[in-house]
Amino acid sequence: MKIHQIPLLRDNYGYLIVCQKTNQAAIVDPSEADPVLRYIEQEKVEPVAILNTHHHRDHTGGNEALLAKHRLRVYAHKSDQPRVFGLTDGVDEGDTIQIGELSGKVLFIPGHTTGHVAYLFDNNLFCGDTLFTAGCGRLFEGTPEQMQGSLKKLMALPDNTKVYCGHEYTESNLRFAMTVEGKNPKLAARFERVQGLRARGASTVPSTMEEEKQTNPFLRWDSKEIQTSVKASSPGNRHDPVSVFAAVRKMKDAF
Ligand SMILES: [Zn+2]
Ligand SMILES: [Zn+2]
Repeated sequence: MKIHQIPLLRDNYGYLIVCQKTNQAAIVDPSEADPVLRYIEQEKVEPVAILNTHHHRDHTGGNEALLAKHRLRVYAHKSDQPRVFGLTDGVDEGDTIQIGELSGKVLFIPGHTTGHVAYLFDNNLFCGDTLFTAGCGRLFEGTPEQMQGSLKKLMALPDNTKVYCGHEYTESNLRFAMTVEGKNPKLAARFERVQGLRARGASTVPSTMEEEKQTNPFLRWDSKEIQTSVKASSPGNRHDPVSVFAAVRKMKDAF
């Protein structure tokens, strides 16, 4: 398997997942078509599918123009039928997707939207706007309970799982993380490393699940320092995982 990261729009990432045995490829979250079409041509692969993580335009905007050029199946959560252009295969938790000889697993992870899914190919996780590197998506359609449940599901994946998310947000996410858990040495080290990468214009995606569990404030509801930060900002807040997660999300919304 080969994975190409394609920068799209201002800060989006689309991906090309290529089966090197058959040369067939899937396009993850094409925000726009032209840069994706150039990659397809340059890599001389045969695109067979679009995998949309959720319905937002910056993840589906290229569907129509790609479908005008190529015959593709379009995958997204089954509840997003009217919201994802060209949807042919509505999927749900536990479904598998075949791309050439590669097989991917669908995880249902609502919270950012009600129909958000992730695609897992071996240890490569394509998680859209649910889990970001050092952050998580806003709760546009779901509840804190749903989002925390979805993040918990992703945290159960092996530590070496690579996190391919939908945006390059790592640096600003870490700037916020430092305000709620600045004494975490792994977080401080990551912030420094990421600032260096961004200064050179390099990508900070993918990360690993291990790194996220160690430094992502939206997965660290058990951290005493984060619980203290939450208490300082909203004194009546409870310390159960969902309440801590919800409070950190609120703080980030206002950051
Ligand atoms: Zn989104
Ligand atoms: Zn997005």
